[in-house]
Amino acid sequence: MELRNIAIIAHVDHGKTTLVDALLKQSGSFRDNQHVADRAMDSNDLERERGITILAKCTSVVWKETRINIIDTPGHADFGGEVERILSMVDGAIILVDAAEGALPQTKFVLGKALARGIRPIVVVNKIDRSDARPDEVHEEIFDLFASLGADEHQLDFPMLYASGRQGWADLELDGPKKDLAPLFDLVLRHVPQPNVDKDAPFGMVATILESDNFLGRILTGRIDQGRAKVNMPVRVLRPDGTIVETGRLTKLLSFRGLDRVPVDEAEAGDIVAVAGLSDATIPDTIADPSINEPLPSRPVDPPTLSMT
Ligand code: GDP
Repeated sequence: MELRNIAIIAHVDHGKTTLVDALLKQSGSFRDNQHVADRAMDSNDLERERGITILAKCTSVVWKETRINIIDTPGHADFGGEVERILSMVDGAIILVDAAEGALPQTKFVLGKALARGIRPIVVVNKIDRSDARPDEVHEEIFDLFASLGADEHQLDFPMLYASGRQGWADLELDGPKKDLAPLFDLVLRHVPQPNVDKDAPFGMVATILESDNFLGRILTGRIDQGRAKVNMPVRVLRPDGTIVETGRLTKLLSFRGLDRVPVDEAEAGDIVAVAGLSDATIPDTIADPSINEPLPSRPVDPPTLSMT
């Protein structure tokens, strides 16, 4: 199956959760026993009860034989390191802006980081159903914001959709059919590049998110940069300075499906997975096939935060 990895960047309350729920529903990614009430990116409390601390949310939807991993980004600069790590896993981004509120400066930080990485975002002007929506002005504000953040000519020529996440539609034109979110799905497939990876190389990934789980112990999430991960495969863990800190096995391999993380036997380069079974690995270590002697290129990050519950 083809793959796309995107980040979603929005000011709080601009409708991220509602839009992702609608994407899940329309992609048919919900199983019968999953309720939209689970709220895609809002289930932190539930997860805390279960003893898991989710630092970044990943939701996975399928559209036209392509799996789209959508990663939530924290809103402010306090999460600087985390933002960079999340952005290192994606090839595209959706900037979601409320059509009445406009482009708020709080998203500047994350947007600036995304632009600096060369990401060419898709802009979604959301809540067009609001009576006080002012889409044309908001479009201009977003253009000015991009320009002030140093966007290049390709980034300034951003594709833009008008949408109502609540009503479940997105259109390229203001007077479009307001039917469904197909235009947004299609734009993601068209505009966001596939992960550029070598699936035949030995397995390697850079751990970008660290969590602790009562049952599974340390869980490390990252994008598989090369090769294939297989459950129970032997791996070594390399620090960015090249020190081998651990050898072990991937006792658990989890891939994202809808709102869930599900155990899989195998996953290939480009996919974002969570792995368990290692006791010393941290971020931004390289977890790799034992034949790999050099850490994979890592990205600038803050010191790891491990929250035990
Ligand atoms: P988040 O904080 O970005 O995840 O935003 P939510 O999805 O939780 O939405 C914030 C508020 O905006 C809620 O009261 C939603 O009902 C409302 N909302 C979300 N999408 C739309 C929309 O398309 N139109 C309108 N009018 N309201 C919306």
